[in-house]
Amino acid sequence: MISIIIPFYNERENLPILLKELEKAVAKIKEPCEAIFVDDGSKDKPKLLLKSTVFKIKLLTHKKKEGKGRALSDGVNQAEGEIIIFIDADLQDDPADLPKFLEKIDQGYDFVNGIRSQRKDSRLVKIYSWMARYFLKIFVNSPYQDINCGFKAFRKEVLKDFIFYGNNFRFLPLWAYYNGYKVTEIPVNNRPRIYGQSKFGKKKFFTGFLDTLTAYFLYRFSEKPLHFFGTIGFILFITGLLIDLYLAYERIFFNVLLYRRPLLWLGVLLIIVGIQIIMTGIIGELIVFLNKKK
Ligand code: UDP
Ligand code: MG
Repeated sequence: MISIIIPFYNERENLPILLKELEKAVAKIKEPCEAIFVDDGSKDKPKLLLKSTVFKIKLLTHKKKEGKGRALSDGVNQAEGEIIIFIDADLQDDPADLPKFLEKIDQGYDFVNGIRSQRKDSRLVKIYSWMARYFLKIFVNSPYQDINCGFKAFRKEVLKDFIFYGNNFRFLPLWAYYNGYKVTEIPVNNRPRIYGQSKFGKKKFFTGFLDTLTAYFLYRFSEKPLHFFGTIGFILFITGLLIDLYLAYERIFFNVLLYRRPLLWLGVLLIIVGIQIIMTGIIGELIVFLNKKK
């Protein structure tokens, strides 16, 4: 069975059209499908009646807006399918691409992400996406071109042990990749938004990036915080130590008076800050250890 999860917030005009498009796409699929609509506390009442003869529909509602991540995770909890599909409700993703995703899953891939190939965005957005893509490639070893594309399909087992929190759903593609699942990307048709407003707006470009980095950090270092803090702290500490040793050497052997050397301040500062950062790492280790013991 296939579970299609559709988080929405104030998308009243889009939902009936989306439903029609989904029905058309699902009619071409052999497996049984269910659509899980998650109303993230929409304010644009009156409520819609979502009905379909082609697939089963579930509707979950949040009392207030809890964010897309929460909506997705609630949808996942109700999903009966072995295969999960995330699709936005704003008609920017084209349900006609659904069979292409499933084809890849049939070919043995565990996680299929979309690439918004012909994005109808400004040049600035494109430059930004390009930068983000290379940054992620270089620093977090990301194999993806368009990690932020909301349209994706994957086997449910990929979510095993994945903890949804905040906006870390953006990290899911990397999670799948790091955990050894077979991942791939396919180009999808990306359409401009016609009804309603973008919920994330421009600030998404910055926060989305931060969210991915946070999630990466937690994934990489939450079991060994000292590796992260220790490295930074050690580099600062050693730099400070070398500076001060050099100053001490000149003071002792060449009688260069220290009160005329501003570098002394830098050296002292680096040593103190370095030690503090290392200590933060040690406290981090302690927290992890105590949590494991429980
Ligand atoms: N969305 C949601 N809760 C939120 C923000 C967004 O359920 O707090 C839904 C929204 O209705 C849409 C999808 O998430 O179906 C993607 O949002 P949007 O299209 O506004 O984002 P953009 O395409 O601008 O990144
Ligand atoms: Mg959108």
